[in-house]
Amino acid sequence: MADTPLATKIKAQIRKSGPLSIADYMAICLSDPDHGYYTTRDPFGRAGDFITAPEISQMFGEILGLWAAVVWQQMGSPTKVSLVEIGPGRGTLMADALRAARQVPPFHKALSVHLVETSPILRVKQAEALIKDPPTWHESLATVPEGRAIILANELFDALPIRQLQKSQSGWRERLVTIDPETDQFAYALTPTASVAEALIYPPVRSAARIGELVEICAPGASLAQALGERAAKDGAVSLVIDYGYPVSAAGDTFQALANHKVISPLEAPGESDLTAHVDFDALARSVRAGGGLPYGPRAQGAFLKTLGIQARADILKQKATEPHRIDEDLKRLVDPDQMGRLFLAMVIGPSHGALPPGFEM
Ligand code: SAH
Repeated sequence: MADTPLATKIKAQIRKSGPLSIADYMAICLSDPDHGYYTTRDPFGRAGDFITAPEISQMFGEILGLWAAVVWQQMGSPTKVSLVEIGPGRGTLMADALRAARQVPPFHKALSVHLVETSPILRVKQAEALIKDPPTWHESLATVPEGRAIILANELFDALPIRQLQKSQSGWRERLVTIDPETDQFAYALTPTASVAEALIYPPVRSAARIGELVEICAPGASLAQALGERAAKDGAVSLVIDYGYPVSAAGDTFQALANHKVISPLEAPGESDLTAHVDFDALARSVRAGGGLPYGPRAQGAFLKTLGIQARADILKQKATEPHRIDEDLKRLVDPDQMGRLFLAMVIGPSHGALPPGFEM
């Protein structure tokens, strides 16, 4: 297969400076300014490479908008609040959430919209989706104003670069991306000697791992979760993180690539496939606590959305729909344990001593 333009660029870099960590490879593939996956395209939807919950149904964003309204009431209905989304994709979730927020006029009046987005192409899409409530964009959470905030992040953490470490007979080695000299194709390799990154592995996982097992660490995910914990402690900010992942830290290789709704090797089409890793919610929770915040959950997406009343919303939409069975199908996709209902998890990050967030009442 012919190299993608980004493959040519990465190969030149490896020949010049040596193999890349998985995190460096992932960051280049997703965010290279000229050929990165998110920098150059809108990958969402049925015709794109993958479909996310807000692109499946308007119900998802609407329910999260009402969730935000209740959180705002729990905060004591402040007259000013930032409604923030990190990694907003096409802006669909925020547009649906704002439509629902208009049902609670004092909340809608109090809020200002902030989007954290690195992709210029997606910023254009987001502007189109949010004409009624023009947002302010940020390169990172750091420039979002301090103070009361409700922060949403759906399928963001899975896109943050991970490193992979493998336990070998002679200690922990880091997994690298290199070039196979015989085929001239990308190949995995290990650092020739033990890696100091071993110190970053959560100790219980490190001691339980068997020879040959891989462990993933996500430094950008940890620092973002810690920042959300700090905002919770300092400003009473409340964040909702939804993603696919696992609730208890464990060894395992979850690095994957998706193109045209199919799983391919992450090394096959750099810049033209979506690279992700499953999210370690246990690690996020530890980082949240390190920042002084309190993590709730994670709770399965299906249970979370049902507690928030997604079935009632579906019933109302069905009364007006020309094809009501499609609403049932979309609902099933979001909440069914065999679809997105169990693999996807919801975690809320709030201040310690805050109210139990909506959707977490059992
Ligand atoms: N939340 C959307 C999109 C998920 S895809 C949805 O559910 O449909 C991931 C999104 O995160 C994209 O918008 C991508 O451009 C953005 N993104 C990736 N890395 C980011 C980073 N480091 N900071 C902010 N946004 C990022």
